[in-house]
Amino acid sequence: MITKALGPCQCDKSERSCPAVSAPDPRTEALTRLFCPDCQGMLVPSMDRPGDLRAPVNCLDCGAQYGAERGAIELHGRDGRPTSRIREYPHQGKTLPFWEFYEQTLRLGAYRDTDLEDEVFALLGWLDHDPGDPILLVGAGRGELLATVAEACPDSTIVALDDSVDELRIARKRLTRQGSENCAYIACDLDRPPLRPGSFKVVLHFGVLHGLQNPLDHLRRFAPVVPPGGRVAGVALARSNLPRIAEAQQMMSAGTGLKWVPMQAFGTALMKVGWRSFRHEQPSNWMARFVAIRGGL
Ligand SMILES: [Zn+2]
Repeated sequence: MITKALGPCQCDKSERSCPAVSAPDPRTEALTRLFCPDCQGMLVPSMDRPGDLRAPVNCLDCGAQYGAERGAIELHGRDGRPTSRIREYPHQGKTLPFWEFYEQTLRLGAYRDTDLEDEVFALLGWLDHDPGDPILLVGAGRGELLATVAEACPDSTIVALDDSVDELRIARKRLTRQGSENCAYIACDLDRPPLRPGSFKVVLHFGVLHGLQNPLDHLRRFAPVVPPGGRVAGVALARSNLPRIAEAQQMMSAGTGLKWVPMQAFGTALMKVGWRSFRHEQPSNWMARFVAIRGGL
């Protein structure tokens, strides 16, 4: 059963929705869990524009300044490497940017057997978090699934990461229209996000694994971000159990670097790199949902 914490004024609303207290600022909450990508120093909002969500963010240690125009903080390091993730996908002999590819695959009915909103609720069920726990969302994109998460978890601060600041701005507009104010938007390298150890016990991971050069190495590096017992749940393109489709997937992988993750073997390998439990379901021939529990308890 889900019980809501009472607000400090003893009304029957949770702290975030209690009219007697001001809601915590999700951006300030997010910054306590992030670090400077150049020196791992502490990040703080610009002192001269307190409360302004478009004000830049400063590193207290090395003095670096990170822009936040239009409400998404750009935490890219000095090396200027915005992402190591595959952003172009193969489609009918051509290479398309992800969003064009996504629209084309929707037209072909690739996700006809998958209701993405249902996926979100299945994953939230696996995460089984306490109301109010901050949620990290890796791979926010244009906010389709983020919108569902933000509405389903109004008492949580949701820290939404993507490597494209343009897509985060689209997401932010969508969430603002919807009236969701519990999200912070951070652009960074999704393969090496600048997150403090133990900063999130609840993580959603949307459609990112299959675009990384080494998904296993990513979750090995990511493990310290999650405290023992914490969970990462997500969706990824998965190697089909049908040989004919698996063969087609491997041919597409060879030309592009995009991966269809072999979920069973992936889960077994995770047990050696900081995770103690892994479960996956493969509701379609192309996609799997998964949850991994951090080891160390
Ligand atoms: Zn710094």
